[in-house]
Amino acid sequence: MRVAVIGAGLIGAAVARELTLLGAETSVFEAGRPGRGASGTTFAWVNSHNKAPRAYHDLNVAGMEAHRELDRLPAPGPRWYFGYGNIEWAGGAAQAEWLASATARLGAAGYRTESVPAARVRDLEPDVVLPAGTDHAVFFPGEAYVLPALLLGRLLGEATDRGARLAWPAPVLETSVSTRGVRLRLGDGTEHEADVAICCAGRWTSELVAPLGCTVPLDSQGPRAVGYLGYTDPVPVRLRRVLMTPRLNVRPDGGGRLLLHGLDLDPAGRSGSPDGADAGAGNETLIAAELGRRLAEVLPGARDVRVTVRAGRRVLPADGASVAGWADDGRVYVIATHSGVTLAPLLGRLAALEVVRDSVQEMLRPFRPQRFS
Ligand SMILES: Cc1cc2nc3c(=O)[nH]c(=O)nc-3n(C[C@H](O)[C@H](O)[C@H](O)COP(=O)(O)OP(=O)(O)OC[C@H]3O[C@@H](n4cnc5c(N)ncnc54)[C@H](O)[C@@H]3O)c2cc1C
Repeated sequence: MRVAVIGAGLIGAAVARELTLLGAETSVFEAGRPGRGASGTTFAWVNSHNKAPRAYHDLNVAGMEAHRELDRLPAPGPRWYFGYGNIEWAGGAAQAEWLASATARLGAAGYRTESVPAARVRDLEPDVVLPAGTDHAVFFPGEAYVLPALLLGRLLGEATDRGARLAWPAPVLETSVSTRGVRLRLGDGTEHEADVAICCAGRWTSELVAPLGCTVPLDSQGPRAVGYLGYTDPVPVRLRRVLMTPRLNVRPDGGGRLLLHGLDLDPAGRSGSPDGADAGAGNETLIAAELGRRLAEVLPGARDVRVTVRAGRRVLPADGASVAGWADDGRVYVIATHSGVTLAPLLGRLAALEVVRDSVQEMLRPFRPQRFS
């Protein structure tokens, strides 16, 4: 089977790798360079922390396991998966109540959670300072983070090692369906024919599948779509895990660098936050300074480090859950999802099985694009 993959973010790359494992003749077309979309500016926390409804939670839990499986397979490249868990603590009564109820709900669903005293947090992360009065945190040992560029390199590398063709820059301008297959019209004026196309175009998905009569509504312009991430210079501190703290999410980013995110500094969270209110839309210098201040509260050894802010754009299906399934009656398949780092290895495998083996994957049933028609 000849399969064309549109888009070389983490989803397209994971799909391409799985297609080659199933023996499909695979061609990947990327409009810009691999990772230029959400996969290049993402916090990349592998989790099913706050994912509703239950089917979406279960999908993310399976996504976490798919990462562990992939990580266990021998591969020559650099390490990309760091399964050390996440430590989270609350600031104030409302947050404490939310964290307690989320922890109870997750625990009841079989998700691993541990309440840990402050002394244990110090054992796990000796350079981290808990705020005065915070006597415990919650540890989620099954969670992880990945270095997305390195994961992307592994997925694309293993696909091309097995014969996939990767073309970039190679924008797909149009996809048309015939009884014999699909024809992609490319930006350089050439055409490519395949039996099936899999659209993994992230926030550009809606326009590509609309001509096929398929509706994938994405919230790509609204305030929820944008997230400002802060990238530090290397710092001499010890941090192994993801930390979710009241005002800052932080994780290692390789080579001593840290990755920072303050949810209330994003456009969607800005109202009601005194610090966030100072950081006007696009004012990345102010956001960088604020992230740096917050980092110094949690990791004093990282104070005064330079922080560079980049805006990431989420792939946000209108109802928040993933989209995975046929866009038409069997020629073009579409995947569009938030939490795509957590989900990439799993969705890649499930989609490849549906396309190449014609094997319907029960886990994907709640996520078909037809729910929007
Ligand atoms: C700030 C932020 C934080 C996030 N944090 C997390 C997190 O902690 N955990 C988590 O699991 N997820 C997180 N996400 C979500 C996750 O990053 C995305 O869901 C995931 O990267 C989506 O991958 P993708 O391959 O579908 O899309 P993308 O990475 O956007 O890739 C789509 C690709 O398709 C290409 N393309 C588009 N149109 C065409 C065309 N016509 N022809 C050819 N190529 C085309 C684009 O150039 C692009 O490279 C976060 C996202 C953001 C923005």
